[in-house]
Amino acid sequence: MSENKAYEAKNAWLEMTEAEKEEIFLFNDEYGKFLSENKTEREFVRSSIELLEDEGFKNIKEIDSLKTGDKVYAVNREKALIAAVIGENDLEEGLRIVGAHTDVPRIDLKPNPLYEDGELALFNTHYYGGIKKYQWVTTPLALHGVVIKEDGSKININIGEDEDDPVFYISDLLPHLAQDQIKKKLGEGINAQQLNIVIGSIPVDDEDEKEKMKKGVLNLLEEKYDISGEDFVSADIEVVPATKVRDVGFDRGLIAGYGHDDRVCSYTALEALLDLGHPKYTAMALLVDKEEIGSMGSTGMQSRFFENTVATMTDLYYDNYSELIVRKVLENSEALSADVSAAFDPDFADVYAKNNAAYLGKGLVLTKYTGSRGKGGSSEATAEFVGKVRSLFNDKGVIWQTAELGKTDQGGGGTIAQFMANYNMDVLDAGPAVLSMHSPFEIVSKVDVYNTYLGYQVFMGE
Ligand code: MN
Ligand code: MN
Repeated sequence: MSENKAYEAKNAWLEMTEAEKEEIFLFNDEYGKFLSENKTEREFVRSSIELLEDEGFKNIKEIDSLKTGDKVYAVNREKALIAAVIGENDLEEGLRIVGAHTDVPRIDLKPNPLYEDGELALFNTHYYGGIKKYQWVTTPLALHGVVIKEDGSKININIGEDEDDPVFYISDLLPHLAQDQIKKKLGEGINAQQLNIVIGSIPVDDEDEKEKMKKGVLNLLEEKYDISGEDFVSADIEVVPATKVRDVGFDRGLIAGYGHDDRVCSYTALEALLDLGHPKYTAMALLVDKEEIGSMGSTGMQSRFFENTVATMTDLYYDNYSELIVRKVLENSEALSADVSAAFDPDFADVYAKNNAAYLGKGLVLTKYTGSRGKGGSSEATAEFVGKVRSLFNDKGVIWQTAELGKTDQGGGGTIAQFMANYNMDVLDAGPAVLSMHSPFEIVSKVDVYNTYLGYQVFMGE
């Protein structure tokens, strides 16, 4: 007979065997490396495709049929990626999807970014997603992205990551002169107009040149990178922390890095799929862009990319394709919306509801609903679906906890769950807890990362 007591999640470390602990550290070393090396959507997708191709996944554009056991992937504009293993069951019985996002809050360059002021050359920026602006000053920054030249050729940029590279920088006011600044509200101490990147300081030696700093940078950009001033108009350049992942704590149980939200879910979803073997249902890792700004646009979850890819898969799978079969594949699917939750922070305890908060080290977080102000904007999972996932995880030894994002009416957030649920499929939010979410250096627990991987694998392989 089971001991009947109030629900309380266990600390996952205490549930792991020595062998599992060893595997947890190895898994997180690989994850950390991947996170340090892939700091934009494009980089993440490019490296993911390499992993997929190494395991025999084929581009969906290069095949003419699909059957059980086949492994395929589809790419959208280098920023979103779908990978699938065709299951034993008929496709019409639905997919088992783990859907995460590849984009991360950051600072983007404006289309015409270059200017000079105070004997410095600078870039104007426009931040992306929910950042606390004050966290981005006086810290080393790197530039990542692509520039499309007028002839259509593409230049990849990655400056600031190598030891020998220069880094870039946003300044802050010295405390000696900050009397007015420190009296401002936290959100106003550094404003969007002050998020300008220092990129140069040596003028060109030319009497006739009016903007000597600007000209110095333009000359360098042309010589070293073949980039002109106008080329910035057609570029995706992201300013990201020039930091690498580091272990945190004497016991190395935590891992800090840029972009856990949501590359920890993207990576674990991908790894889970790669290690899956032969699933019953067709398993899919769905990695989309633009979640941090509302999932809009051609590469976001609201784009038809997902639906079109399912239609293409259906067409390749059946001889008698019909729109109705596509609808059934979608409707019979089940999904985990793989996104992170907020880890309880003892320094800010009053914003969390203690009994419904996520804790570092307590495993994969199941979030029945997100949203704010009375579940507004939430895609709530049904009791039946949560029950199914809970039972599956308990059965397979996945350590999980349940939480909502902070106290009621304290704030809130959303994920891609609602856009998947629009296809009338069951969706549940599930991902690890993150400390200092959306900061340039976020923290997750290694045991949570591992249980996230296990949970996604169990779900896709169910
Ligand atoms: Mn997220
Ligand atoms: Mn986020």
